[in-house]
Amino acid sequence: MKLSKFSIGIGDRFTKQGKAQLAALIKAKQQSVEITPVWNKSHREHTIIGTKPADTRKEADEAVTACGWYGPYFVDADHIGLKNVDMFIDSSDFFTLDVADFICKPAVEGDIEYFIKKHSSYIGKVKIAGIERPLKIERQQLQAIAAKFLYAVQQAGKIYRHIESAKGAGNFLTEVSMDETDQPQTPVEMFFILAGLADEGIPAATIAPKFTGRFNKGVDYVGDAAKFAKEFEEDLAVVAFAVKEFGLPKDLKLSVHSGSDKFSIYAPINKTLKKFNAGLHLKTAGTTWLEELIGLAMAGGEGLKIAKEIYVKSLSRIDELCQPYATVIDIDRSKLPTAADVAKWDEQRFASTLRHDQSCKNYNPNFRQLIHVAYKIPAEIGSRFLDALVKYEDVIAPNVTENIYERHIKPIFMMVK
Ligand SMILES: [Zn+2]
Repeated sequence: MKLSKFSIGIGDRFTKQGKAQLAALIKAKQQSVEITPVWNKSHREHTIIGTKPADTRKEADEAVTACGWYGPYFVDADHIGLKNVDMFIDSSDFFTLDVADFICKPAVEGDIEYFIKKHSSYIGKVKIAGIERPLKIERQQLQAIAAKFLYAVQQAGKIYRHIESAKGAGNFLTEVSMDETDQPQTPVEMFFILAGLADEGIPAATIAPKFTGRFNKGVDYVGDAAKFAKEFEEDLAVVAFAVKEFGLPKDLKLSVHSGSDKFSIYAPINKTLKKFNAGLHLKTAGTTWLEELIGLAMAGGEGLKIAKEIYVKSLSRIDELCQPYATVIDIDRSKLPTAADVAKWDEQRFASTLRHDQSCKNYNPNFRQLIHVAYKIPAEIGSRFLDALVKYEDVIAPNVTENIYERHIKPIFMMVK
């Protein structure tokens, strides 16, 4: 089982937009750009909404059949660990092993010593194609990296072997993620993390490091885009080098957990992928549900009423809704419209405040972030919301497709800047 050069992780909270999402990939295919869809959903999302991994599988299978998609596709158990992986085993064929919580937890002393000894040949200067100056690796640094990451890598091994024993080797794809942590991993750290994954015998298809800068949910990148670009380039170089050095799967690639919509780093990513002729897995478009809400607002009538109701409820429960996402949102509460403001809005005003178009003066990233983390509210509204999604599908589906195709696929995988 292999992942193609380009793949996209598309989240879909309410499992209604599989076809509209796939339509974006079909458009890309018509332009000769092959991208594999991966429907990802985390345990956290399933829990908040009340869906099950089997629902995502059903959505993916149905979308693929309905659209006549003949290419590969996957269902990703996103950010799983040993305590919740079992419920994903039957429905998923892509597993994102989240070991971020184990970073900085110490491995057994003997294991650390063995790891350092095994990889001590890299102490000194390491020349890597694509990185101007050789990496300088000191013994102390290798020790620090082992102390910080070896235990997490071993945990990835444990989860991997658990899945392997249930599904059989070669019957699923593995991603290792370390993105949900405060400190970005340097290219040198990633090099030794990859060494550790190889030692554990994990045939990783993708690795998701934490990159420099802030990746807030549903809004643009916050940070130094030039610094990101340099780091991304070095990461790609390190991955290519590590594949050869450690005998990892030769199509191993980076996975960017974007938190959706990191538009200002799309151009440097695009440029760097071309420079290295590298592949990429991009997790994005968890904002599909925001496109649903934009569609509901644009439809007017009952649709707009539901959209407003969701915002007003979100506002009144802001602390509760933001809590699980505290580290990945930055909401300036003073810039949030009041319930009275929103009551006066028409279709266009609601849609343009929510839609991620930075050139539009109505666009409000605070409003957008709050609604993005508020998907518990429509889940509670239940059938009235879900029925409206079906009723207004004609307005919603084009928004979903256009968002993925125009704002994500084109700048990342197609346009040359
Ligand atoms: Zn992630």
